Amino acid sequence: MTRPSRRSLEQRLAEGVVIGAEGYVFELERRGYIKAGPYVPEVILDAPDALRQLHREFLRAGSDVMVALTYYAHRDKLRDVGRDGELEPLNRQAVRIANEIAAEGDALVAGNICNTWSYDPADPHVSGAVVRAQYEEQLGWAVEEGVDFVIAETYDHLGEALIGLDVCKQLGLPVMVTFASVQPERTYDGYGYVEACRILAHEGATIVGLNCSRGPETMLPLLEEIRAAVEIGVAAQPVPYRTSTTAFESLAGFPIQLEPHQCTRFEMADFARRARDIGVDYIGICCGGGPHHVRAMAEALGRDTPASRYSPAIELHPVLGGAEHELMGGWRAGE
Ligand SMILES: [Zn+2]
Repeated sequence: MTRPSRRSLEQRLAEGVVIGAEGYVFELERRGYIKAGPYVPEVILDAPDALRQLHREFLRAGSDVMVALTYYAHRDKLRDVGRDGELEPLNRQAVRIANEIAAEGDALVAGNICNTWSYDPADPHVSGAVVRAQYEEQLGWAVEEGVDFVIAETYDHLGEALIGLDVCKQLGLPVMVTFASVQPERTYDGYGYVEACRILAHEGATIVGLNCSRGPETMLPLLEEIRAAVEIGVAAQPVPYRTSTTAFESLAGFPIQLEPHQCTRFEMADFARRARDIGVDYIGICCGGGPHHVRAMAEALGRDTPASRYSPAIELHPVLGGAEHELMGGWRAGE
């Protein structure tokens, strides 16, 4: 088994916050490379340079992790778009591309599995076996191509999350397991999110937490409870949207006209600081996030990123920087 990075996830966590960046599917949909609806990452095979470019943008913006774009790249989803025959090349190429770009900046490479829609809590044994087979297949290829750890994410059911964790443990891979937390308090199989994280920690997860679904305001209170409940790393990757209720799935316009609810880079930078202050160890962003958010978050956490060379000249901004009138030309020109 190859671990691409010289510094492991555990080493980095011991040194401070690890910065993540996701939302590849949403961003590549906006750029015209993934179809909204099925959201299958066909871009991996159809336009690999578009994927390379987005990885590179997140890397330049300060992400410590290149997440292989194998979200929804499992057998069921590929069948939906008639491409299940390309399952293996698609999964392998996604991990290979993540490795290629991670090497440009000594980033970690994360394999990625997620909720499958195959899991049925009313029939956990039969449906669980289907889920397990999909994870073993995906992660088998990921391990051969080289990953440092796995992000098993956006779970709605603790039962399915435990299967993901178990497959990673059997492969000897550190794993971050996260819930989507669509509902106010409980997973769809009836566990409080805090209790579900505690169980995953007890079962050997490296990091537990939340990603997707919630924006900063609705994610932070739950994060504080999770932080208090577990001894291991805690992850937070909210969507950059102003979720007044629990989750962005309930916002008008979900999922392809969410722009009116978008958080600014400054709001996401503020989230990063607040998450760090309550003791969150892995801070990132999910669907809707762009490289400008990631850079602002990384800078809020004290990083100087490759893209920081072009960070805003705030001192020249007419309002934010209180600049003199004659210095505003650049900002006006950029309007
Ligand atoms: Zn997401």
